Parts: sequence; structure tokens; C-alpha cells
Amino acid sequence: MKKKELFEQVSDMEEQIGQLYQQLGDLKQQFGEMLEENHRLEMENHHLRQRLDNEPDHDQDHDTDNNDAEIGEGYDNLARLYEEGFHICNVHFGSPRQEGDCLFCMMFLNKTK
Ligand SMILES: [Zn+2]
Repeated sequence: MKKKELFEQVSDMEEQIGQLYQQLGDLKQQFGEMLEENHRLEMENHHLRQRLDNEPDHDQDHDTDNNDAEIGEGYDNLARLYEEGFHICNVHFGSPRQEGDCLFCMMFLNKTK
């Protein structure tokens, strides 16, 4: 009887270890995905920062009758951002475009033009 209990305990433990091992594998995979995502965000952040730094004019005193030109310029900046491979739509704004043209971005560009 004692031997049987001992054997059952060992079996239980074996099963638990198996489950733990599986959990460990899952965690490892999640961690890998997290690192990947982190890297992607770092790159994205880096690109966006560069875009901000390259912004040509930070003039504070705008003339009020300049508004049309400013809108045009804003459009150009967004169009350029899109050309460089980033989303400018409010759905994915600022994230890299990975699958060619984005329908939302195209709609946005046509609407603003
Ligand atoms: Zn988009």
C-alpha cells in the first residue's frame, strides 16, 4: 500500500514537472515576442524622432493669412511620411507600413488633398 502511494506521488510530480516545463516554454516564447515588439517600437520611435528633428520650421510667429500654406505643408509632410513607409491614417498612425499600401492612409490622403 505504501509503495503504491509513493508511486502515485512520483507520477503526480512527473505530471506537474511536465506542465511546468510547458509553461516555461510558453513564457519563453512570450518573452521572445515581447523583445521583438520592444525592438520594433524602439525603431519606430527612432524614426519618428528623426522626423520631428528634421521638421524644417519651428517658427512661433505665424501670420494668420498663412493658414492655407500651412495646411499644404502639413499635407506634404504626411504624404512624405507615408512615402517613407509609415501609416498616417488614424487607425495605425506612426507605425511602419508592412503590407504595401494602406486603404485608410490612401483615403486620408485623398480627403486632405
Ligand atoms: Zn494606414
